Amino acid sequence: MRGAICTICTELFDSSRDVSALRCGHIFHGDCLSPWLNQSMTCPQCRQKITKAAIIQKLFFSRPDADDSIAGEPSTSPELARIYSKLEETQNKLCLRDREVSKLSAEVSAIDDRAKQLTESYRLHIVLTCIF
Ligand SMILES: [Zn+2]
Ligand SMILES: [Zn+2]
Repeated sequence: MRGAICTICTELFDSSRDVSALRCGHIFHGDCLSPWLNQSMTCPQCRQKITKAAIIQKLFFSRPDADDSIAGEPSTSPELARIYSKLEETQNKLCLRDREVSKLSAEVSAIDDRAKQLTESYRLHIVLTCIF
């Protein structure tokens, strides 16, 4: 991909512009190709006749290098991957913390119940002591 040019505008392909492909195998900028095809349905490079159905409107390039990933494919950015794995890690921790919290609040409500029971029996005890 590096060093390839669009023969319509003679500019290099980069990740900032969409790339279209024709059946004959030639590729051009999408915005260079469409005005051309409005005038003639032939390949600008080899003049082969083409049909609309034979045009691939957009090609996706996977780029292993970080430099080009800013504009195009965020999923290939190592920075983003790092952030995502950090996020996942944090979510896992949060999940663990959540489980701890619900365990503790279950304990709290158990203690609460026990306290209520004790209060009840204490009151009963006082009532009984007053009566007898
Ligand atoms: Zn072009
Ligand atoms: Zn061609």
